[in-house]
Amino acid sequence: MSLRVTFLGTGGAVPTTQRNTSSVFCRREGDRLLFDCGEGTQRQMMRFGTGFGVSHVFVTHLHGDHTLGLPGLIQTMDFNEREAPLSIHTPRGAGAKLRALIDAAAGRPSFPLRIREVGDGDVTLERPGYEIRGFETDHDTRSVGYALIEDERKGRFDRGRAEELGVPVGPKFQRLHAGESVELDDGTVIEPEQVVGDPRPGRTVVYTGDTRPTDRTVAVAENADLLIHDATFGSDNEARAGRTAHSTAAAAGEIGERAGVERLALVHISSRYAGNSGRLEREASETFGKGAFVPDDGDTVSVPYPDAE
Ligand SMILES: [Zn+2]
Ligand SMILES: [Zn+2]
Repeated sequence: MSLRVTFLGTGGAVPTTQRNTSSVFCRREGDRLLFDCGEGTQRQMMRFGTGFGVSHVFVTHLHGDHTLGLPGLIQTMDFNEREAPLSIHTPRGAGAKLRALIDAAAGRPSFPLRIREVGDGDVTLERPGYEIRGFETDHDTRSVGYALIEDERKGRFDRGRAEELGVPVGPKFQRLHAGESVELDDGTVIEPEQVVGDPRPGRTVVYTGDTRPTDRTVAVAENADLLIHDATFGSDNEARAGRTAHSTAAAAGEIGERAGVERLALVHISSRYAGNSGRLEREASETFGKGAFVPDDGDTVSVPYPDAE
């Protein structure tokens, strides 16, 4: 099952020539999901070849740098005669305002548009093999982050061991792997535990949107494979980060370290660090204890299974 994340916009509230406002595109096998949709996101989708076939947009909060791309994207989808429904997830209590923003600029599209409010802990999308859950963040308006959490996978089937035990190659292999016991021709019963390993964890990707560092993020992102965290400022603007309800790179690194995440992507980079994002990577890596990275717009990362060889 492929799981890939493309950073469409890695800049803060003010875009620069290098960094667009916030948007993260996620593709899991055939599903295309969009997290936030700042101004100009549809052009980023064209530039980086993601296509417009997204079924769900997850909005972390209503600030313009996370939402102003929605009316334009919806208008283009309408021009393209889209028929498939589009669901937009937004923090609890923010649905009516988001509807008004879209109505004012894009009108009523001819495809079904659903707006769904999300609170802390809500499973807002359930799909075979994974779900998307909202979690509380700490910004200066109603806000949530989102976690993509995959189901556990079946344990590994030990083919060699099964053959040693005399299980004939064929349907009995599948039945054992599915958790059933099987009886051999000589009456011996083989239990699945004899040939199937422990269940293996799925993958987790967490996107905070704009937020101060919080314990809730640490809990949600525990052992995540990829954490995408607000890192608007460097240590030179620590007080400003607190005042404006954002995080410094060092604070994002600390959250990543406490949660034990595998990889940490720093986004929402303030325009004042244009050309100097290496400073943020260094500061975050110091607290994170390993390499944190500031993606460029258009960068794509694959998220492998934790037990992948
Ligand atoms: Zn923002
Ligand atoms: Zn914001």
